[in-house]
Amino acid sequence: MASVRVRKLVKKFDQTVAVNQMDLEVEDGEFMVFLGPSGCGKTTTLRCIAGLELPDGGEILIDERPVTNLPPADRDIAFVFQSFSLYPHMTVRENLAFPLRAVRTPQNVIDERVAAAARSLHIEKLLDRRPNKLSGGEMQRVAIGRAIVRRPKVFLMDEPLSALDAKLRTEMRAEIKRLQSDLGATTIYVTHDQLEAMSMGDKIAIMFGGLLQQIGTPTEVYDNPRNLFVAGFIGSPAMNTLPCHRAGNLLNILPSADSGDGKVVVLPVAPEAEARFGSAPEGKDLILGVRPEDIALAREPKPDFLPAEVYIVEPLGSEKIISLRIGGHVVKARTPPTFPATQGETLFARIDQSRAHLFDAATEESLTCR
Ligand code: ATP
Repeated sequence: MASVRVRKLVKKFDQTVAVNQMDLEVEDGEFMVFLGPSGCGKTTTLRCIAGLELPDGGEILIDERPVTNLPPADRDIAFVFQSFSLYPHMTVRENLAFPLRAVRTPQNVIDERVAAAARSLHIEKLLDRRPNKLSGGEMQRVAIGRAIVRRPKVFLMDEPLSALDAKLRTEMRAEIKRLQSDLGATTIYVTHDQLEAMSMGDKIAIMFGGLLQQIGTPTEVYDNPRNLFVAGFIGSPAMNTLPCHRAGNLLNILPSADSGDGKVVVLPVAPEAEARFGSAPEGKDLILGVRPEDIALAREPKPDFLPAEVYIVEPLGSEKIISLRIGGHVVKARTPPTFPATQGETLFARIDQSRAHLFDAATEESLTCR
């Protein structure tokens, strides 16, 4: 296995800068996920690493060896795409053996590698079937198997699960993660699905507009988003964002344009948040960011709890998402499924300020990211 380093990578298509000065490092054996919305440059970065696109600038190293100008075949990588093309006239066994036959591998090695891949992917019983007798998930396993048998230095996967239904995706997500950790295989995995990224990656590289926004473990990017884009992209429901100003030891939440009374909601800075919020500039436009699980609800008034009208209740089985109106803004809170709430009634909400964030509204950068 091997590390992958990308330095100042630039790729343009006519006027479009698809990848803009991308710098990232994938350590040996690491599972790195490229995450971002459609068009942010994930696939182009991956294709540059694979050698399928020639960069306009920058450098790519695999296992410390510069490969920027090498063809894909000389990079010792394996690619798994969303649309897996198995050879229809070959059995699963023959499909798995194909990449090894292509490089004249001895038959005993082929047999051993095919058997090992089939075991890892739980497809031993399918070895003598043709692809038209396989389900979508089984076909995807064979496609992954074809990448594994070569034992490449790096696996590159571009949305390999997006053609599968939701249940199968969840199953395969866990299986790929397990397989990757068993093989200790350096893997780069592209997805636009933040749940997939959070559940699979050792690290996540979040991209937007061809720029790397943040790179870190799932917990780091969730708990400490560097800017409003990352804060909003990771997490479902998304982080609540409330415009505010700091005045001394108070955060004044500014009313939304459609709030009836136009009143500022005053939130005293809690002692546990003083160190983080106290240095935010006074009088400047700020955004308070609060995750839905960091809002505690009560049915009766309590110290530090703000009154809030219930706007919508969404029972999701394992939890309940309650939307409340605070200063005219709709704020989502995550509660246990048994918490009673009815549309239109008044509840009381407390923001856990020790886990809340402040962003500069103009630059969208976090003022509290550690
Ligand atoms: P998706 O999730 O939709 O695949 P992505 O994040 O992988 O998106 P890319 O496919 O890398 O994004 O595309 C980045 C930008 O480069 C987009 O604006 C896209 O339109 C453009 N682009 C990508 N490939 C080409 C190409 N071959 N010719 C012209 N423009 C391209």
